[in-house]
Formats: sequence, structure tokens, C-alpha cells
Amino acid sequence: MKKILMLGTGGTIACKRGEYGLKPLISSDELLSYVPDAAQFCQADSLQILNIDSTNMQPKHWLTMAEAIEAHYEEYDGFVICHGTDTLAYTASALSYLIQRTSKPIVLTGSQKPINMDITDSKTNLLDSFVCACDGRIPGVQIVFGGAVILGTRARKTYSKSFGAFSSINYPVLGVVQDNCLVPY
Ligand code: ASP
Repeated sequence: MKKILMLGTGGTIACKRGEYGLKPLISSDELLSYVPDAAQFCQADSLQILNIDSTNMQPKHWLTMAEAIEAHYEEYDGFVICHGTDTLAYTASALSYLIQRTSKPIVLTGSQKPINMDITDSKTNLLDSFVCACDGRIPGVQIVFGGAVILGTRARKTYSKSFGAFSSINYPVLGVVQDNCLVPY
């Protein structure tokens, strides 16, 4: 069975309603517990490296992510990074240049709604990300969101409420995830 490491960085996906509004308070372990179906096709571990709103993301945080992947690169077949949507595309670009010529999938995802809400895109996005990280046919840095797989250097957040928040700019979508299956284009 393939081994996947999920890195938690915060964002809406990990938010709980707290004293001052939404705050990333859900741990990576807790996030994993919301997608029990992932255990059917991979062995997933989690690592909490940050827990911030992605509007506070800085270049030093990109290095933290790249270093965590480097430190665990040989142990895992793929990586999933949970991230806020506001700067997810910038992180995807940065990681695409920090981690080049990798044969393993490095999948960034997030959500429009927290994972503990009744109606949420979090569980689908997270599970779809595990599907892509496990499948391995699309290597490198990519965003999986709203069922689409987008090259890390081509993504842009184009909608702030729609579950299909990201578009691929001047480049085809790399694939789609449907019913726990990756369909690469
Ligand atoms: N402000 C949040 C963030 O980027 C928005 C989100 O995750 O959708 O961390």
C-alpha cells in the first residue's frame, strides 16, 4: 500500500468557529480523521508544520514546506499539503520552483468551507488529493480542488465562494478526479 504524508498548514479547511471568528484550530491528525475512506487505498500520516491563515503566508513558510518534504521524501510515495485558498496558488508556484524534477505527486488543496461543517467541500477535496497523491500518474506540484487537477505554476483563485475556486490559466487542466479515480487528460 502506498504511503502518503499530509502536511497541515492551516487555512479555512482547518478552521473552527472561535472567539474571534474562523480560526485554523483543527489539527492535521483531526483533518485526517474526516477522510477515513483514504485508508482503503493508502497509508496516510500527518504532520502539522504550520497552522495559519494563508493570508499570513510568507516565503519562509514556503521553505518550511519544501524542507518538510525533503526530510521525508524517501519515506513516502506522495505528499498532500492542506493550505488556505487565498495564497494557495502562490505557494504552488513557489514549491514548483523549489522542488523540481520530482517523480512524486505533491498535491496542494484547501477548501471554501471548514471540514467540520455539514455542507463542505473539504472532505471531497482532501480525499481527491489523496487519490492523486496515491495514483502517481501526475507527478510534481499540483492543485487538486473542485475535482480538477491543475499544474502548480498555472493555477489562479478565480472564485471566492464557488467550490470550483481555481482555474488553470492558459494551460489545460491536467486531469479530473471522479468517484475516487483520477482521470488524467
Ligand atoms: N483566508 C483563508 C486562507 O486563505 C481562506 C481559505 O482558506 O479559503 O487561509
